[in-house]
Amino acid sequence: MSELQDANSDKFQALRLQRFYLAQINYLITYVVIGVAWAAGQYDASAWMATTHVLLGLLTQTVFWVLLKSGLNLRFREPSMTNAQIVVAILLTTYLLAFAGSLRGSLVMVYANILTFGIFQLTRRDLVLQALLALTCFGGLIAIESYRGPSAQNLTLSLVQWFILACFLGCLSFTGSYIRELRERLQQRHSTLQAHQETLRGMMGQLQNLATTDSLTGLANRRYFIDEAHRRMTLMRPNQLLGVALIDLDHFKRINDLYGHSAGDEVLQGFATLARDSLRDGDLVARFGGEEFVILLSNADLGALHQCMERIRASFGKMQFSCLPEGVHCTLSAGLSLIRQEDDLEACLNSADQALYMAKNSGRNRCEHHQTDPA
Ligand code: GH3
Ligand code: MG
Ligand code: MG
Repeated sequence: MSELQDANSDKFQALRLQRFYLAQINYLITYVVIGVAWAAGQYDASAWMATTHVLLGLLTQTVFWVLLKSGLNLRFREPSMTNAQIVVAILLTTYLLAFAGSLRGSLVMVYANILTFGIFQLTRRDLVLQALLALTCFGGLIAIESYRGPSAQNLTLSLVQWFILACFLGCLSFTGSYIRELRERLQQRHSTLQAHQETLRGMMGQLQNLATTDSLTGLANRRYFIDEAHRRMTLMRPNQLLGVALIDLDHFKRINDLYGHSAGDEVLQGFATLARDSLRDGDLVARFGGEEFVILLSNADLGALHQCMERIRASFGKMQFSCLPEGVHCTLSAGLSLIRQEDDLEACLNSADQALYMAKNSGRNRCEHHQTDPA
């Protein structure tokens, strides 16, 4: 069983116990009512009958409690045991009503109270069957009494009570099924909403990806780079330096012109893969636009920045592309700059751009840096 299923099963089991305790409160209230009636001399059960009723109640409820606590109920077809608990409650109530005397007319509504517990759990069929059981039990009680020789007036009163009970239980079954249907519809709507939310979340993720990723190379795009660089600058400690390198592929237009645009695309993708593989996890490489890229190194001094860029430049110069004739290689030029905590990102990128310009003017295929004073 998965962890999620385990958690769900625990949640349902807790709910079942909660409902069981709620039913115990109802038992308690019924006993309080009987106690008050007995004290007022309105309940004519013998002490023996009252004791057996309480003992039967305690015994059956203990069995349910043990089943729920031990988890044995999970082996049943109906782990909530709602049907069984209602049947027991109906039988106990019938036993109670047998000695209720003049109070029986009022106490007969305990049946209705019991059935309300089934509204959220039982199917319409089960709810109707439980209502029929209550009516049969109460009817049986009346039949036994009349057999023992009741007065005609008592029998009429009992039959009217039975009729009233039948009407109310009928209403309760009908309303109960309606509430259950409503609940199921709400649950269905909730599930549909959740599914829509999932789809929306997925689409948001895709949109976010589209908005921040360059589709040709899979690298971050310029917008993402600028936002991320700003974010990292706000997290910088004093004296910490970030290294930035603006990279431009040399004579790239020639690649397109001589070998076609798709060859140019392959070279751009090749550079992206090389740069990604050459950097550490915390570093960032993005396509700045066209055949220009930008790299942001975390915790880098000028030496480390130079070393890293020289490594990439040398590797790129040796790369062989399947779309280019053998022996034809591409090169790159890079302008380097350092970023301090108090610097302005745009100024640093301008500085790297000036260094790139210097690299281009000095013959390309090289890395140059713009002098900054990190002190
Ligand atoms: P330099 O060494 O001075 O940088 O020369 P260059 O030819 O690289 O520079 P230029 O700015 O003249 O040309 C850049 C070319 O890059 C022009 C453009 O068609 C090409 N380019 C830009 N984006 C793409 C792309 O996504 N795919 C391909 N294949 N080419 C692109
Ligand atoms: Mg360019
Ligand atoms: Mg170029």
